[in-house]
Amino acid sequence: MSYPKTVPHWIADVEITPKDSAFFEKRNPATDQVIAQVARGGAADVAHALSSAAGAADDWGRAPVPKRGAILGRAAQLLREREKEFGEIVQAETGKPWKNAVAEVGSSADLAIFMEGEGSRLYGKTLPSPIPNRTVQTLRSPIGICAAIMPFNSPLAGVAWKVFPALLCGNAVVVKSHELTPYTAIAFGKLLKDAGLPVGVYGAVQGYGPDAGAPLVQDHRVGVVSFTGSSATGKLIQKMVSGRDVLAKVCLELGGKNPFVVCDDADLDLAVELAVTSAFIDAGQRCASGSRILVFDRIYDAFRAKFLARVEKVKVGSGPDDDCGPVISKANLDRLITQVSGAVGRGAKLVAGGKPTASTSGYYMQPTVLENVSPNDEVSQNELFGPVTCLYRVDGFDDAVRLANGTHYGLTGAIHTTSLHRAQEFITRYQGGLVSVNGATFGAGPHMPFGGVKNSGNGFREPGTEALDVYTELKTVVINHVPAKV
Ligand code: NAD
Repeated sequence: MSYPKTVPHWIADVEITPKDSAFFEKRNPATDQVIAQVARGGAADVAHALSSAAGAADDWGRAPVPKRGAILGRAAQLLREREKEFGEIVQAETGKPWKNAVAEVGSSADLAIFMEGEGSRLYGKTLPSPIPNRTVQTLRSPIGICAAIMPFNSPLAGVAWKVFPALLCGNAVVVKSHELTPYTAIAFGKLLKDAGLPVGVYGAVQGYGPDAGAPLVQDHRVGVVSFTGSSATGKLIQKMVSGRDVLAKVCLELGGKNPFVVCDDADLDLAVELAVTSAFIDAGQRCASGSRILVFDRIYDAFRAKFLARVEKVKVGSGPDDDCGPVISKANLDRLITQVSGAVGRGAKLVAGGKPTASTSGYYMQPTVLENVSPNDEVSQNELFGPVTCLYRVDGFDDAVRLANGTHYGLTGAIHTTSLHRAQEFITRYQGGLVSVNGATFGAGPHMPFGGVKNSGNGFREPGTEALDVYTELKTVVINHVPAKV
């Protein structure tokens, strides 16, 4: 696959680059080379995409649900056939090691298969009524048009997580690609076309958030805004929708500052291995990455020694055997270096990394570990979204729970312990959307609802059957009949 020299919009099933379009550069994070010029979309492109979606939404919403599901089934098959092509697109856009890029293709196909199955269900309820000869039921209705606004970190999985359930539920979808990973959504459109999706049901526009994202969110034709990105932008989007004449449903999947707790009865080797994976997979650019490692005082020194030895072995690069790819942009790399040196200036101790790697021209950063960081410091409180984690010493279980809950985020949390009682207490007391016992801070599957509390989300979950709550409206139907009229 060669990455296209120009990345267009995808509207009414064709690639469109308006004659008067401005462009911005797309660089490969692994090489710093410019690989494409991206159409810089704005309100006119968004309006065009929405008109196309509006023309297609009604028929699509009335198509039998199993037929919609069958198209997703074909999309899954095509994804598997085109695994190499999509893996290469993800790799060119993110610089991820191949194993992580290609994993997105498999998980996206799995999600399409799961959602295809929902095409035979999409259950409502039948409800009893105290009134004679009355039947009450609930139906799941399509909402109409879904605006899907994307983050950059897992471009294919990100599009799949929103678009497959939204389509299955009978909505037309307009994606706003992330400006740093623009082409995935276009290749996805071609795939859906080949899978038999009717013209106009899926579109994608390019551009920066304020230029292309804002007009999409603010357009009253959009009935559901599904956003994944930072908490700050999520709050802005919620505000924008509140300012519209007609409200819309807003699903926010936001950031995390996820604690990884290591108790004094933990299997230390397992905890070390999974702490490293949690912190550095995808160069720490995962909402669920383990950015705070909370270790019981009694085993702190033993854990620290093993952990730092293992961090040294993390292979930085984008090759087949590498573990930790580049961060997405030079700007993010510079920001991370500044944040780490700022923390050191405020008294933190740098015990690993802290610099760009010397050997390549991409945006690679050494896996970085800080300790002696105040829990109130900005690097303890704010998501950094890079290969940086902090070690904290905790007195015991209560201290660990207090610290784990001590940020405005609440996405995921992990605890390593052999005590059933500690595990169960952590499950109960951790304020987050996912708890992992003796695992990594992440873990997702097509059937698993994922999302957060506090500044990590607004109560919705994707995917699983819970995603159906995002992309349908529940309609309650009351039917009265008169037996005498039979
Ligand atoms: P971001 O908030 O900077 O950007 C996300 C999207 O919002 C982009 O497409 C951007 O163009 C758009 N945007 C920006 N300003 C906008 C505006 N004014 N109006 C409309 N759209 C606008 O986030 P990011 O840095 O691209 O992504 C990383 C973030 O995503 C992290 O915080 C990460 O934790 C989060 N994330 C969360 C999940 C989850 O499931 N909870 C999954 C992946 C990533």
